Amino acid sequence: MEVEVKKARPPKSQPFTIAGHTIAPGERLLFNLPGANLYTHTPLDMPVEVIHGRRSGPVLLVCAAIHGDELNGVEIIRRMRSFRSLGRLNGTLVLVPVVNLFGFIHQSRYLPDRRDLNRCFPGSERGSVASRVANLFFKEVVQHCSHVIDLHTAAVHRDNLPQVRAALDEPGVREMAMGFSIPVIINSGLIPNSLRHEAGQAGIPVITYEAGEALRLDEKSIVSGVRGIVSVMRTLGMLPSRRIRTIRAEPYIASSTSWFRASIDGVFRPLVKLGARVASGDSLGVISAPFSSEEAVLIAKTDGIVICVNNLPLVNEGDALFHIARFGETGAVEEEIASHESNVEGDRLYEIEAINPTDPAASG
Ligand SMILES: [Zn+2]
Repeated sequence: MEVEVKKARPPKSQPFTIAGHTIAPGERLLFNLPGANLYTHTPLDMPVEVIHGRRSGPVLLVCAAIHGDELNGVEIIRRMRSFRSLGRLNGTLVLVPVVNLFGFIHQSRYLPDRRDLNRCFPGSERGSVASRVANLFFKEVVQHCSHVIDLHTAAVHRDNLPQVRAALDEPGVREMAMGFSIPVIINSGLIPNSLRHEAGQAGIPVITYEAGEALRLDEKSIVSGVRGIVSVMRTLGMLPSRRIRTIRAEPYIASSTSWFRASIDGVFRPLVKLGARVASGDSLGVISAPFSSEEAVLIAKTDGIVICVNNLPLVNEGDALFHIARFGETGAVEEEIASHESNVEGDRLYEIEAINPTDPAASG
């Protein structure tokens, strides 16, 4: 049972203007941002939905598929847009389910110019296609928002434990990261020309939610993501706060992370799962030569939690196979991950949600 915490209501909001559209308080608008064209001259527009509350508050952008093959975020946004509680929104929610439409259509991370869109911000009107798409999205959408949650998955054939990545010392970022209510937070540096870096430079705090695998939908990642975004919206005062009696995830911040790579070429068999606790000296996996008895065991060189695994058995020497995060209290993190997973599996959003969306921000 949840009890609503009464707070003074924010003042009435004013009309909100974005990309040449003005939305009145209490209204929502779905529009297409005219972007690039296909070779056929068919327009390839970017759908944007704005839900503008009757009361003032932050302008939160939730975007997905900047890497066009990362699909969990597309589904997270689809589920969020039908929540009835958005009728009581303070502030404005801007939803962009597919930023990289070229990649989405081609089931690819990249754009036709072979660029990674998340290395092209803030972009340029005169650059090649990735730079133009970055410029359009940054100028017309991102710069009109006060906060951003950017949704990603691991790259193809890799699986990420649901986690938040954020530069926690940047203004406003820690509050959002902790507010996501997920066990694992990676305090990660900013890569130049990424959305996180460039929006941060513009004074807009950004967190990245990383969960699951490219080209796959993963229910646990999706439910954790929906829950996390609603939790951030409550933290920012966009949705009513509640005292929740059920256990919420305690966030733990990783002190560092490292990749463990294949020591020989061959067929890879993992011995530990995503989210597992490993100790220095543990066997992480085995790589075997298919036509000889040669075999190499991959040994952990640190204690930590497995936050990413490679799922492709065919590996070359040097391929990244496990990403391990180190924490001060590894045992507590392992317990929190297990507890969070069982909470997610027991959540009423789980599985049936795809057919009959329910609203985690609604009462009950
Ligand atoms: Zn990504």
